[in-house]
Parts: sequence; C-alpha cells; structure tokens
Amino acid sequence: MRVVTQQEFGGPEVLRVIETDRPAPGPTEVLVRVHAAGINPVDWKTRAHEVFMGEPPYTVGWDVSGVVEELGFGATGVDVGDEVLGMPLFPRQAAAYADYVVAPSRHFVRKPKGLSHAEAAGLPLAGLTAWQALVDVANVQPGQRVLVDGAAGGVGHLAVQIAKARGAYVLGTASAPKHEFLRSLGVDEPVDYRDPNATVTGLDVLAATVGEESTSRWLPAVRHGGIVVTVAASQIDAPGVRHRQVLVEPDQIGLTGLVELIGKGQLKVHVEQTFPLEEAGKAHELGEAGRVTGKLVLTVA
Ligand code: NDP
Repeated sequence: MRVVTQQEFGGPEVLRVIETDRPAPGPTEVLVRVHAAGINPVDWKTRAHEVFMGEPPYTVGWDVSGVVEELGFGATGVDVGDEVLGMPLFPRQAAAYADYVVAPSRHFVRKPKGLSHAEAAGLPLAGLTAWQALVDVANVQPGQRVLVDGAAGGVGHLAVQIAKARGAYVLGTASAPKHEFLRSLGVDEPVDYRDPNATVTGLDVLAATVGEESTSRWLPAVRHGGIVVTVAASQIDAPGVRHRQVLVEPDQIGLTGLVELIGKGQLKVHVEQTFPLEEAGKAHELGEAGRVTGKLVLTVA
C-alpha cells in the first residue's frame, strides 16, 4: 500500500509517497481502506517539528473516511463493508495519509450516506475540537452570544454551525470577502477582523481558534462570568472570566453528535479543495498559508 511518510523534519518537500506492507488489525482494531484523509494544521506542525509526536520516519494525518475491510478480535460497533469516519488514536503514530489504516474500532462511527468521503474526512478532528469546546466545555445554551474567532477555518466553520444548532446568537470573525460564506453557515453577525474599528460586546462564550494576539483583542468583550475556550492559545489574562483550553481527543459520543447534526441538516462540511495523496506537500503549502475556507482533504481511493 501507499503511505505518505517523512524521513526527516522539514518543509512540505520532505513528504514522500512510499510503498509498504498493509497493516493487520490487532485486538479491538479495524483495518480501514482509506478513501479520503483530512488535513489539519497539526499535520504541518508535526512535519516541521513545531509539535512533537514522534521521531521520523513519520506519517502524519488523523482524519479518516473509508470502508472497513477487516475486524480484529473483539472489534465492536462497525462491520466489514461499513463506510466509516473517525479521528482514531492510532496504535503507533498518526497514519491517515495512506491507503489503509488500523485503529481502534470504537474511534469510528458510520458515515452518513449523504456525506461524500471528502466531506467526511474533513469532519472528525476539526468537528470534535469544535464539539468539545462548545458542547462539552462551554455547554452553549439557547440565546447566548457566542463569538467564534476564525469562523471561516476548519474548526471555526463547524463551530459556528454547532453554536447555531444549540440556539445561540453567533458572531464570527473573518476577512470581509468571507462574510457571505459565514452568513451561509448561519452566522448572525460576521465581524471583519481586519477593520481596526470593529467591536463586539456582551459575549457569553469566546471560542478562540486563531491565536493569542487575536484572542486578547476580543477578550474584553466577554462578560463577567463568561467563558473563553481556547484551542490555539494558552495564555489569557481576564479576571472574572473562566478559561479552558481544549486538546482534542478521540470521542465516539462527540462524533455521534456531529453525525446527528449532519442528519438533521444543521451541519455541513465545506471542502475548499481536494488533492491526490501524491500532492500532500502542495496541500500543506496551501494550508500553511492560513487562508483556507473550511477544509483541505486528500482523496486516496
Ligand atoms: P485553518 O487553517 O482552517 O484556519 C484558516 C482560517 O483562519 C482562514 O479561513 C482565515 O480566514 C482565518 N484567519 C486567519 N487569521 C485570522 C484572524 N486574525 N482572525 C480571524 N480569522 C482568521 O485552521 P483550523 O481551524 O484548522 O485550526 C485553527 C487553529 O487551531 C490552529 O492553530 C490549529 O493548530 C489549532 N487546533 C487546535 C486543536 C486542539 O486540539 N487544541 C485542534 C484543532 C486545531 P481569513 O482568510 O479571512 O483570514
């Protein structure tokens, strides 16, 4: 099978497709034929050694959409032939940029029929991050004012839809050309972060997906007793405001919640562009430039 691997840390050019043996599922694992693999910032951060997940040779990628081909002893919840999606905790290292993966069966759910493999591969990591931030941590309630900073990105475009589905009044930051996109997702109030005069007030929840500088700009808008959930910044200084940081983890309950929203027509995955497996480096270049709307995805089978 083909797998994208890197022999050293570095730029997009270190990603190479090699041939290797197909893995076999161990106990409680499944073998999945990958149809599409989502791309996330952690992939290029790992590739470049900004985040350390293991020594090269290394294969990046956490998001999988595919078809179950084999069940290991004790694997539950899915069957051979099922179309599945997931962000599994891989037994050895992240390995989604490949023809096949093995991973725990409990980290997958069945893919909704109406969702393409490319859309499904864009969902797990970004969707679970948004879910864990807004549902598990912030517990967004109807009528609350929620600002998603970075609303047009992979995490943000899913976060705004989750907040809407929970009945919140949703504000979202993006550059002005993306405001139509934000409205199409249900955002009530797009905010142009490039406008130095843009202001927001009275937030119950700030979901911060951009970074520390941007988070500190919107922080004063959070009301006393409100909450800031950060996924891309760790330090905040705001007396009277709660702060929690999310580090996304595999979560079948969260995936089920996301899939239910898709079934109800309340959540859509926007895929800006797909790339063949051989062009993973090109996809990283585009992603690292920081302007992607929604998700980038590798199409594998
Ligand atoms: P993306 O690469 O998808 O973000 C791109 C988007 O960011 C673009 O649409 C861009 O819109 C927008 N953007 C850039 N600068 C700003 C700004 N100053 N204000 C508002 N929007 C801006 O990133 P992801 O959503 O996939 O990830 C976001 C961050 O979260 C990353 O740092 C990632 O590593 C982190 N992350 C952390 C996780 C965790 O578990 N803690 C899990 C997942 C992600 P425009 O073109 O309009 O600028």
